[in-house]
Amino acid sequence: MKIVFATSNPHKLKELKEIANSFGAENIEFVLPPDGFDPVEDGETFEANSLIKAKEANRLTGLPALADDSGLCVEALNGAPGIHSARYADTPQARIDKLLNVLKPYDNRKAKFVCYMTLVGENGEILFKDKGECLGSISKTQAGVNGFGYDPIFLVDGKNGLTMAELSEEEKNLISHRGNALRKVLEFIKNNKR
Ligand code: IMP
Repeated sequence: MKIVFATSNPHKLKELKEIANSFGAENIEFVLPPDGFDPVEDGETFEANSLIKAKEANRLTGLPALADDSGLCVEALNGAPGIHSARYADTPQARIDKLLNVLKPYDNRKAKFVCYMTLVGENGEILFKDKGECLGSISKTQAGVNGFGYDPIFLVDGKNGLTMAELSEEEKNLISHRGNALRKVLEFIKNNKR
């Protein structure tokens, strides 16, 4: 079956395909939306934004569509940057620098990555939605070159002080918020034989 994955981030599509393959879902062909895919993500929650993206990708293609909306939630900042993670500052490095700076006065460094996924059918109807999380904390300095976004400052719980950016892609996919959410979606698809 063909599913359009509502993103313009090629890194996310690559991660998604790897997670799907490791789940044994090679029969699902994930494709990107057409050029110009740029929905207005004006929802107030990850869940609302993932629905906006899925519906727009479906509207443009007529295909079933899967969308994720994800971000980093820091406990001491009441969940910020949250849905604003991608726009917290102008560049990936500026976002990391800003967060390290803002967190300087705080002892509580607890954080989590959150990912909501919504799957809509050919007619835009919601088939499935759920979330995945990955627990950790924000480091004081950055380390590692893998992954993207906030990975170099996200210390993953249970990984002996390694940041997400120090894990291999395979290790990240096994424990990541996106991996956890996507496996729920794939389980749903498998059980519903779509
Ligand atoms: P989205 O593309 O609207 O879901 O925005 C997600 C933003 O949250 C990204 O631009 C990153 O800044 C951050 N983010 C989400 N997932 C990850 C991840 O796996 N690693 C690092 N940063 C992430």
